[in-house]
Amino acid sequence: MSDAPLLRVDDLRVTYRTRSGDLPAVQGVSFDLERGASLGLAGESGCGKSTMANAILRLLPTGTTVDGAVLLDGQDVLAMNPGRLRSVRWTEGAIVFQGALHALNPVQRIGAQIAEPMLLHRTQPSKRAASTRVAELLEQVGLPADRAGAYPHQLSGGQRQRVLIAMALACDPSLLIADEPTTALDVMVQAQVLALLARLRVERGLSMIFITHDLSVLTDVCDDLAVMYGGRIVEEGRSDELFHTPRHPYTAGLAAAFPTIGDPASRMNPSGLGGDPPDPAHLPSGCPFHPRCARAEDRCRTERPLLMPAGELRRAACVLVEEPS
Ligand code: SF4
Repeated sequence: MSDAPLLRVDDLRVTYRTRSGDLPAVQGVSFDLERGASLGLAGESGCGKSTMANAILRLLPTGTTVDGAVLLDGQDVLAMNPGRLRSVRWTEGAIVFQGALHALNPVQRIGAQIAEPMLLHRTQPSKRAASTRVAELLEQVGLPADRAGAYPHQLSGGQRQRVLIAMALACDPSLLIADEPTTALDVMVQAQVLALLARLRVERGLSMIFITHDLSVLTDVCDDLAVMYGGRIVEEGRSDELFHTPRHPYTAGLAAAFPTIGDPASRMNPSGLGGDPPDPAHLPSGCPFHPRCARAEDRCRTERPLLMPAGELRRAACVLVEEPS
């Protein structure tokens, strides 16, 4: 097996074309994902994290401009022709979307929906073999095999999310991207789905990108975290360290926005994150977080901080990173 990372994203830039002009959603993001590793991407709505996930498998609307490089197992995804791209999706990289009710076909039994990518990509030699595989996959995600005959509306929200995970795993991809897979679920079911993803990742040696606005969720399932703001990564590092000792004020606000279940000393930060996320088309000058940052200085309005070393395996884009936090 190669020592190279499974996924290398280098200076990725994504710009949507809208009626009111160009919308730069991702503005120069770079990271590596090692084989078998998991990376959590956190940030508020509109920070660019889902756009980046979709850009990795080129699932963006026609007309969207994508620059930079996405190397999946050494292959340049952005340079692939449509045929090659179709063969890579599902078999080498698959995505679990949020909102399983909308992601599933309401008039097709779930067994047929899970079998579809296997038959399309011929990873199973026959419909019978695909049905056998569907039963195995359902059991792996904690559903009885006989649920293959159910329609999506006959399942609970958590069961539907498990179906989407089974579908994503159907062709045995090396990379699984989970985009807010637990957002619509209650806390108990969310915990079950997270535990399922963590178990499947270890059992299958999957590399995983897990996207959510809830930083506390990511520390349980991810080795590393990257926090995005205004289309850029503003802090990255090992997940536990980043969550418990954030160096960027935005990471600190995001971490304080969620209580830690089971920790009696934990309190939600009453000040929280004031203000709204920035409009990507009109980012504030200097540090884009400065209008919301309690620690902003004059220079923050004019200097745009770059990602700089902020400790062992840590980088942060803040003028304060050289100073004690
Ligand atoms: Fe706050 Fe300034 Fe750091 Fe931006 S650069 S996060 S405004 S202190």
